Amino acid sequence: MLKITDLHKKYNDFTALRSLNLEVGKGEIYALLGQNGAGKSTTINILLGLLKPTSGDAFINGVSVTGYPDRVKKDLAYIPETVLLYPNLTGLENLDFFSRIACFEYSREQLSGFLNRTGLQETAHHKMLGGYSKGMRQKVGIAIALAKDAKVLLLDEPTSGLDPIATAEFTEIVRQLGQQGKTVLMATHDIFNAVSVASAIGIMKQGVLVQNLPSKAFTAEELQELYLKTI
Ligand code: ATP
Repeated sequence: MLKITDLHKKYNDFTALRSLNLEVGKGEIYALLGQNGAGKSTTINILLGLLKPTSGDAFINGVSVTGYPDRVKKDLAYIPETVLLYPNLTGLENLDFFSRIACFEYSREQLSGFLNRTGLQETAHHKMLGGYSKGMRQKVGIAIALAKDAKVLLLDEPTSGLDPIATAEFTEIVRQLGQQGKTVLMATHDIFNAVSVASAIGIMKQGVLVQNLPSKAFTAEELQELYLKTI
């Protein structure tokens, strides 16, 4: 579902990505770990078509991100650390607005259904977004991804700044997304979260994917030890 082939990215003379190869299948959750500056966001921005690679390519559901960025965008949803939404619209209205932008029109019941699938309490659906917590905003971000029927979700440090309960809730939502057949690529610093939800884990160092591991083979402590040895 997501395939990255020999991706390189240079910013002037600085090489941010070197020969990155990666495959994530349907329903798989891949966690990308790495220090600040390792190249995780650069990878996500190339997948989103926001950056052009220096060489190499990536494919979403078989479609090239460099060749057909607009076609690829239909299958992608992006959930950054802070989901940007309209503070003066309710959660439901935000979802309606962004669904329409993606050319989907839903009834109120259907929109509420998407929000319910993310665990956002019904009482919050009609409240202004400006009063939402970070975790609640992320749930609306996930609901938008569900409403636009995205096949691949790109998450950039999704649990950063969430309290432990919101992190556990978010982890559970991501697990369910995988079970529903969504493919997830998640850049994160949260080793515990990566071990608990990901099917595979990559560790990046200075633009190189230096480890590509099945998550089930590790406890969080073991992964942390390996991470510290690797970077
Ligand atoms: P973080 O965890 O801090 O988000 P990251 O792994 O996402 O880090 P990137 O943001 O992809 O890392 O950055 C990779 C490298 O590329 C860094 O050294 C960064 O300084 C550099 N870089 C990123 N964007 C640019 C740019 N527009 N111009 C020059 N260098 C850049």
